[in-house]
Amino acid sequence: MDREKVISVKNLTKNYGSFEAVKGISFDVYEGEIFGLLGPNGAGKSTTLEIIETLRKKSGGEVWVDGYNIDRDAGKIKKIIGVQLQSSGFYPGLNLTELVELFSGLYNQPVDAKELLQLVNLTDKSHAKFKELSGGQKQRFSIATTLINKPRIIFLDEPTTGLDPQARRNLWNLIRDIRSKGTTVIITTHYMDEAEILCDRVAIIDQGRIIALQSPDQLIDELVASGFERPKEVKQANLEDVFIHLTGRTLRSE
Ligand code: ADP
Ligand code: MG
Repeated sequence: MDREKVISVKNLTKNYGSFEAVKGISFDVYEGEIFGLLGPNGAGKSTTLEIIETLRKKSGGEVWVDGYNIDRDAGKIKKIIGVQLQSSGFYPGLNLTELVELFSGLYNQPVDAKELLQLVNLTDKSHAKFKELSGGQKQRFSIATTLINKPRIIFLDEPTTGLDPQARRNLWNLIRDIRSKGTTVIITTHYMDEAEILCDRVAIIDQGRIIALQSPDQLIDELVASGFERPKEVKQANLEDVFIHLTGRTLRSE
């Protein structure tokens, strides 16, 4: 791959007291990728992301983001990344348009609120307050706020957890849209179907170590080549197919 590395992590470690949460991981992320971090709860995914986002101190190792070293240029890194805020940061009294304008002011970055809300399919909610949105709409709005500073890279930590099947699919489309405009996406998820469909490459982390790093296709092919066989599926569809078929695939009032 001769694409540019936008993130480079070398021998990253993180200790919480005497507990080693991240035990020397290394990986690169290339420009325009959707890169997945997978792994059980407690594996060290969020810790790793927050270190790259400059929000948490590492214990050891090196991290570069778009050529900037995290120890020397954290301020420059902050300007070119988009991070989802905790929903508690969304002032309860403001509607979506006002929130976008507020963030636009905070980032000192002019933003067309209408255009941004349209991108995440929330045009008809522009006068609603954050707390009045459904789970899927909240996630789409929170992703919109990551885009305000026109970042080169966005970080999404479990953006689809707790969403219904349709809302999840809507979010996949949004993430693909964002990537197709050139933004690199780093995402964590516990849904393997989602990682398989969405991610160009995935790193599987377990107990603070990367135990696999490849495209989903390559990982699956390797498992099959090793002789693994899944018990034969007898049906041509599953319950999720039924759900989507019955309730429709299109964007609706989630
Ligand atoms: P993941 O996102 O993969 O579920 P985390 O990065 O949140 O994992 O956590 C990795 C490990 O570090 C877990 O065992 C967690 O309990 C521990 N941990 C995370 N944050 C802290 C903290 N602030 N203080 C102490 N331990 C922490
Ligand atoms: Mg986490």
